[in-house]
Amino acid sequence: MATLRLHNSLTRRIEDFVPADPRRVTLYVCGPTVYNYVHIGNARPYVVFGLLARLLRRLYPGVVYARNITDIDDKIIAAAIAAGVPIDRITDRFAAAFFEDMAALGVDPPDVTPHATQHIRQIVSMCERLIAAGHAYAAEGHVLFDVASYARYGELSGRSVDEMIAGARVEIAPYKKNPADFVLWKPSTPELPGWDSPWGRGRPGWHIECSAMAAAHLGETIDIHAGGNDLMFPHHENEIAQSTCAHGGRLFARYWLHNGMLTFNGKKMSKSIGNVMLLHELLQKHPPELLRYLLLKAHYRHPLDWSDATIAQARATLDGWYGALRDLADVEIEGEAPAPPDVEAALLDDLNTPQALSIIAELATASRRATTPQARKTAKAALLGAGAMLGLLRLDPEAWFKQAGGSADALAVDPAEIDALIVRRNEARKSRDFAEADRIRDELAARHVAIEDSAQGTRWKIVNPNEHAA
Ligand code: AMP
Ligand code: ZN
Repeated sequence: MATLRLHNSLTRRIEDFVPADPRRVTLYVCGPTVYNYVHIGNARPYVVFGLLARLLRRLYPGVVYARNITDIDDKIIAAAIAAGVPIDRITDRFAAAFFEDMAALGVDPPDVTPHATQHIRQIVSMCERLIAAGHAYAAEGHVLFDVASYARYGELSGRSVDEMIAGARVEIAPYKKNPADFVLWKPSTPELPGWDSPWGRGRPGWHIECSAMAAAHLGETIDIHAGGNDLMFPHHENEIAQSTCAHGGRLFARYWLHNGMLTFNGKKMSKSIGNVMLLHELLQKHPPELLRYLLLKAHYRHPLDWSDATIAQARATLDGWYGALRDLADVEIEGEAPAPPDVEAALLDDLNTPQALSIIAELATASRRATTPQARKTAKAALLGAGAMLGLLRLDPEAWFKQAGGSADALAVDPAEIDALIVRRNEARKSRDFAEADRIRDELAARHVAIEDSAQGTRWKIVNPNEHAA
């Protein structure tokens, strides 16, 4: 069987992936905190690790992929107070928007989507277990993890406790034994959302939610845990400490995967910096496949800088690939074409998506040289199979060229009306009324429709309003 190789942040090496039980491979990815629309940087882990889940499903008979929804958090509470509504009005709305935007991006849904607020019982019981085992303590309505009780704390990020205290803005509080101790449970006032617990009415800290949800759905030891590298400390470090100590020292996650940050003008895209581009808005302006292509263009562990120039380049690349498919429109392919072996091999090599995309580019170039019916059929099957594996080239080429931007722009022109104008233009040309033919061409250009005369007749496409349609 083909071997999947993955970079494990725990060992900082690329390793062969060997699941604990190939019949039930488990993957947990930290999901979004739903108080706003997600930004394009947030989409990166879901696209990349969604692709990993797809690959695992091809390799193993059973895969359970859990991606949670963080639906209780101070930022959510602040957003609900600002809007004067209960928190679930905010979390339901933005979780629904998140699912919709993920579907648009071609991200396969995970098998389980646990919500933190539906796991309060498991969270409370994990806190109790940690207290009983001497790894946590209750103080003034809080429950805190006792960092000094876990000698391996800091193993993932490779930092000492002192470094972690200096580097992170750890909160010094009178009820903490050690400033590095972190909150598992905290008190809520009667007005704030909360649940009854042995320590009074309160709510969970963020880190324990993931530990409890991963254990509830995937078991005490999971195969792969993934998320952005900004979560390595403190979130993942704390998840490891909680889960390991609550489960009698058993290993929490066997492989840790982290994606690099998406940057904008060289700075991490982040809500707190305020330099975000919301996925929801980008999807109104650009075809979803273009955004997906860009998210896969860089290797997942590298930074990825977002800019208008890369968007324009991506558009040109995808136009080229869809152009190759359009030239093969007459070739029939039965069923779903399989991914070519070299594309699968690239992905098995620590998700080398840049390599997989460059193979697609070569396939598109090669397809133009294919002339015999068999060669054209092979070329089209390879392009479609590779595209399907990566979640690209899923549209009819005509539909691709007729959508200028995202779904909203796609509706801005009526294809029947454009077709009728083209018929009139061609009639004008036939009767040598070139002035009328040019006038129609200009009218189309003003509506961002470019036309191209080819052996198969006149084709049209919508061009970006920033480009020239002539
Ligand atoms: P959050 O809702 O902030 O917890 O983020 C959800 C996911 O997005 C986490 O896996 C983060 O690591 C990831 N993330 C946040 N910002 C970026 C970014 N600029 N680039 C890539 N991933 C990010
Ligand atoms: Zn998490």
